[in-house]
Amino acid sequence: MSAEDKANGTSTEVPAVLADAQSRLENIYQRLDVSDDARQRLAHPHRLLQFSIPVRMDDGSLRVFQGWRVHYDITRGPAKGGIRFHPDVNADEVTALSFWMSIKCAAVDLPYGGGKGGVQCNPKELSRMELERLSRGYIRGVYEFVGPDIDIPAPDVNTDATVMGWMEDEHNSIARRQLPGVITGKPVGLGGSQGRVEATGEGALQVLNIWADKHKKKPKKLTVAVQGFGNAGYHFARAAEAQGYQVVAVSDSRCTVYSADGLDVEAVHEGKKKGSLKPHCKGKKDQGKILERDDVLALDVDILVLAALENAIHEDNVADVKAPVILEIANGPVSSKADAKLEERNITVIPDVLANTGGVIVSYFEWIQNRTGDYWAADKVSERLEQRIREQAELIFQLSIDEKVNLRTATYMQGIRRITEAMDNRGSQRYFTGDQ
Ligand code: NAD
Repeated sequence: MSAEDKANGTSTEVPAVLADAQSRLENIYQRLDVSDDARQRLAHPHRLLQFSIPVRMDDGSLRVFQGWRVHYDITRGPAKGGIRFHPDVNADEVTALSFWMSIKCAAVDLPYGGGKGGVQCNPKELSRMELERLSRGYIRGVYEFVGPDIDIPAPDVNTDATVMGWMEDEHNSIARRQLPGVITGKPVGLGGSQGRVEATGEGALQVLNIWADKHKKKPKKLTVAVQGFGNAGYHFARAAEAQGYQVVAVSDSRCTVYSADGLDVEAVHEGKKKGSLKPHCKGKKDQGKILERDDVLALDVDILVLAALENAIHEDNVADVKAPVILEIANGPVSSKADAKLEERNITVIPDVLANTGGVIVSYFEWIQNRTGDYWAADKVSERLEQRIREQAELIFQLSIDEKVNLRTATYMQGIRRITEAMDNRGSQRYFTGDQ
């Protein structure tokens, strides 16, 4: 696909990220009794909107950005999924991300379908005012496509609570009504939930803890390296360090920082806020090291956490992985071909569609709070998050044992079973012919 086609989403070729994501379905269909109707429906996104966002820049010039919003499947409820601002965003990526959201929401039994959105832009080159105008322009572009009962966006890469607040304000100014449930991940003062910012990282740690318990592993004996030190990666690393895991490396888009004695995660985070990652170490004697960006992937650690972007591990670098366990916090960080190679080597992958559900679960809690007007304390949010993750993860771990499949296959089976049952309940050929 040419770069131009990729950028504007007009190519007729099979899109790469989506094709890779969907290629996992055949394996699931071989294990589940899925109707032909449901298979056909899951092969295509429900709807895809591409639009232009004209933005007045600070120097007076006009720039037109490309935006997308996709509803992959809405059988179980309104679409749900984040909005990404990144130079590489394109129709294929957004569609794949909305496909994963469909599986994920069903896998943890949320009453949602899957959606996703994005803008092709480099937020690092935009001023705060330009970013606000772009965020508000995004909402003007998708206005009819979103709503508390239609599609509820949330933060993703390079979008945060402030961006969600601007977007909610723009939506409600157009609607001339207060509809806080139109978007989640908002600032608490605008109807956001306590605990939403930390939820993805902390939820992933809860899933890792369940895995560790089942394998009788003690956190204090486990070394961890984290690729991606943004919202999800930082909150994971902070909470993991607090529970005794030894976080020996973290990385961002520029470099990896490493200390064999363990990093002081909070100090590394403070350094990042001031400009760049520095290897602040726990042991006073160790000075730590700055390594190449991708060195994090090949470190000899017990747990490799992928919290950056999709396709971090692919066919060309999968052989370098030394960690026996991978925790996927990013969406789609291991390509399907690399996944098969990891399985051959008995490397355990705790998959994105289970491990990163903490964010969407607390987004669901935020939506409930917005719709009932009953706002919960932080303790109640974290208690209910833990309860939901434990209940659903236990079902998936058990399914993986019963069906003798890996955790990714078990999570997909759980999600696909729920989605396709709902499709059949709405009326499929089987339903009409009585051929159950
Ligand atoms: P973010 O923008 O806050 O952080 C992304 C981080 O990845 C940054 O530190 C960036 O420097 C780093 N990065 C980018 N390219 C990299 C590379 N090649 N190598 C190493 N680091 C790199 O984004 P986030 O919200 O933390 O999201 C990270 C991932 O988690 C994404 O895949 C996102 O879809 C997924 N996710 C996030 C949430 C959420 O609630 N934030 C929920 C579910 C899934």
